[in-house]
Amino acid sequence: MNENEVYEDKVIRGLLMEGSVNMTAISGRGLVEAARHAHGLSHVCTAALGRLLMQTAMMAVQLKNASDNLTVILDGDGAAGRFVAVGREGGRVKGYADFPEVELPLKENGKLDVSGVVGKNGEIRVIRDLSLKEPYVGRCAITDGEIANDFANYFVVSEQQPSLVYLGVRVDPKTGAVRAASGLMLQPLPFCPERDIAALEQKANEIPALTRMIEEGASLEDALIELLGELHPEFTEKTAPVFACDCSREKIESALISIGRAELADMIEKDGGAELTCRFCNKKYAFSREELEALLAEAEARENDAEDDGQGE
Ligand SMILES: [Zn+2]
Repeated sequence: MNENEVYEDKVIRGLLMEGSVNMTAISGRGLVEAARHAHGLSHVCTAALGRLLMQTAMMAVQLKNASDNLTVILDGDGAAGRFVAVGREGGRVKGYADFPEVELPLKENGKLDVSGVVGKNGEIRVIRDLSLKEPYVGRCAITDGEIANDFANYFVVSEQQPSLVYLGVRVDPKTGAVRAASGLMLQPLPFCPERDIAALEQKANEIPALTRMIEEGASLEDALIELLGELHPEFTEKTAPVFACDCSREKIESALISIGRAELADMIEKDGGAELTCRFCNKKYAFSREELEALLAEAEARENDAEDDGQGE
């Protein structure tokens, strides 16, 4: 069964206060749980990668074409190295951490030490690869390491878009299973009146209750209405985000061909075959000696073609 159906993951887009604020919200327990299983994430890395994947899904639902994607990299100095997530149309996400099994002691307030694995120094990069345009790269320093504030800061610094960002993942302290995961992004539009911004700021302290409300059984819709009811939320669009990789044997084959003849020949001679693992989903692809030899022949044919092309100039 599709985990997404079991956990009813969804992204809801909408408006607050008669259209002066854009709202995007996510409940993402299933997708965070799927990432935990794929990568064997520690408790703290479940929280960190889970937050990043939900943020990426909230941004990805804005993509309009099947070939569009966005890559988000948290390149910090934390214990788990880099965190990378890719989002595609409809909120499909994939992602990984360099060292997914790193566990850290809880912080003094009893919370998972997300900034300890992400780091408090470094850079966020957001690469938007939209059809027919050069990729747009936005950058901003990491200063907090808890991810939500870092994105709020990123939107102001790099995209001139003031934003309130909340991300929460509740992890079972014994089993490490995801009990609830949710996120919310509120972005005032340029004409948003000052009093509406003040009303949003008033709400900011209450928003972290969202994940607990969902853990206690509320639907995302009901939790949003309870939290933001006074701001007159209107829901305009719902999508079903998933943790899903788009890797395939064909893509791995073309990657192998493009590494070149010498390395392929080396794999055949020294290892008699190869097993490659997709970083984003941990799926393994095995190649026998005969399969590698066929790829080597293809690589040789391509290099010869390239040389022939060169001679004509
Ligand atoms: Zn994959």
